[in-house]
Amino acid sequence: MKDQSKHVSIEAANAVASNFIRTIIDDDNRSNKWKGRIETRFPPEPNGYLHIGHAKSICLNFGMAKDYGGVCHLRFDDTNPEKEAQEYVDAICDNVTWLGFEWGKHLYYSSDYFDRLYEFAEYLISESKAYVEELTADEIREYRGTLTAPGKNSPYRERPAAESLDLFRRMRAGEFPDGKYVLRAKIDMTSPNINMRDPVIYRIRHIHHQRTGNQWCIYPMYDYTHCISDALENITHSLCTLEFEDHRPLYDWVLDQLVDKVPCHPQQIEFARLNLTYTVMSKRKLIQLVTDKLVDGWDDPRLSTLAGIRRRGYTPQAIRLFAERIGVSKADSWIDMTVLEDCLREDLNESAARRIAILKPLKMIIDNYPEHQEEDCFAPNHPQQPEWGKRTVPFSKTLYIEQDDFMEEPIKGYFRLSPGAEVRLRYAFIIKCVSVEKNAQGEIEAIHCLYDPDTKSGTAGADSRKVKGNIHWLSLKHAQPAEIRLYDRLFNDPYPDSGDKDYKKTLNPDSKKIISGYVEQALVDAKPEERFQFERNGYFIADRYDMTPNKLVFNRAVTLRDSWGKAVHAS
Ligand code: ATP
Ligand code: MG
Repeated sequence: MKDQSKHVSIEAANAVASNFIRTIIDDDNRSNKWKGRIETRFPPEPNGYLHIGHAKSICLNFGMAKDYGGVCHLRFDDTNPEKEAQEYVDAICDNVTWLGFEWGKHLYYSSDYFDRLYEFAEYLISESKAYVEELTADEIREYRGTLTAPGKNSPYRERPAAESLDLFRRMRAGEFPDGKYVLRAKIDMTSPNINMRDPVIYRIRHIHHQRTGNQWCIYPMYDYTHCISDALENITHSLCTLEFEDHRPLYDWVLDQLVDKVPCHPQQIEFARLNLTYTVMSKRKLIQLVTDKLVDGWDDPRLSTLAGIRRRGYTPQAIRLFAERIGVSKADSWIDMTVLEDCLREDLNESAARRIAILKPLKMIIDNYPEHQEEDCFAPNHPQQPEWGKRTVPFSKTLYIEQDDFMEEPIKGYFRLSPGAEVRLRYAFIIKCVSVEKNAQGEIEAIHCLYDPDTKSGTAGADSRKVKGNIHWLSLKHAQPAEIRLYDRLFNDPYPDSGDKDYKKTLNPDSKKIISGYVEQALVDAKPEERFQFERNGYFIADRYDMTPNKLVFNRAVTLRDSWGKAVHAS
């Protein structure tokens, strides 16, 4: 039943896998290119919540730095003030810390460099490497040409440097409205690479910035800002996703112009972004899901946001294991959701204590058990970790079992309970079903059983008889009511994000079910975010926000096995 291949230890699975980025770093170390220094950065734009795709980049950047004894910077790329907010900055810091990484003193903002960026722009103008453009945005687009046709020079391209400098200073001084002028790099309007056709590097935006306030009304563009920020921070390897491959010549061009002015020229290296089935990762779609209330906020446990994944019950270890396992490559590919889920199962199989919960209760009465008697049974906290000890689970005359563990008319191959059949109540006795009690509507209210007192688990008689079924139970009067949130995949379609599909039409209507179940007493003291395996039911986490000693709330993180598309409650 157990798939041995899935039981490799987390340690072994974490063994460093080789990838092309390591090869580059190893070569650089051999040639002493960076004098042994490794400095990477994770550069989010604070305009949304991070998702599992970002986790790949975080694990890569921080992970490489860690493995090679280097450092990784956290840099907020905050050059688009209209979409950015402190709320996102805080959430991103929180996510990175949660994943287990530290930036130490290396927390930066692109806006820290606004003065330097401006100074360099003036320098480029004075060197006739940049000019102030006054064509409109539409005209600029028209002049730019296409993938097959070269662009043509703007009539303002050869404007004297002194004139551009004067205009640029007046742009900064706030003399002009948004859109009146832009600053463009002077590269090559006939370049086959459109990014090199005199890209815009500054634009006018009269807008408040969350860090620099109203100090600036011109803001630098991403391509100009990013490479210079990397260089000023002495980054060695600037890792980014493949869509920036065509921007690399621009990255290098800017730094080549500033070779005497910045401390180094980092190497941009591109890798394939993470594509994960059954999720959307575009910021636009994530925002829509939240604002249209199709999910319960940014940390809805069904979302691929790191806040959601955390609330769902994922561990940082599982996510790091996932990042290691999927590796990094130059080729775009899709990763199946089961790969992520299996990483969590592997981690929690080792790290989560076992507990008992009844999700769909069915009352069971042991007819031959004395009315007021109670006794202790002992359940191991972890089957492979005897040193975790055992806990007491009280047994009494009236119990709850799972509805799915009883069938009045059993189908072929059903080894759980049915009239006349025998099963073991796990950690307790062998019982036999003798009758079924129904209400006026013919629905089952309770089942009646006889127990065999000589078969108690842990006693000499336990093995006197073999039965096939082995089901879990809770004593009714000791069971604690709990709210159980059963989460499943948010989408029914494996590729909700692709093409022009309407991803909202592929939402899984069964992705969230809230049920009232029962849990054992030991769970009353569970702390928010404590994770457990509920035997036979899956891995659960005490909800981070809603769990209190007075209201027990558990979220299902993942089922015990991959049950997608199959009956959910297997024995
Ligand atoms: P946008 O730039 O459209 O706002 P983004 O997802 O690129 O969205 P950023 O904040 O710029 O958001 O991302 C920060 C870093 O995370 C970037 O270096 C980016 O390449 C990386 N990243 C984003 N999505 C993924 C992904 N799916 N897989 C791997 N890395 C990713
Ligand atoms: Mg981006």
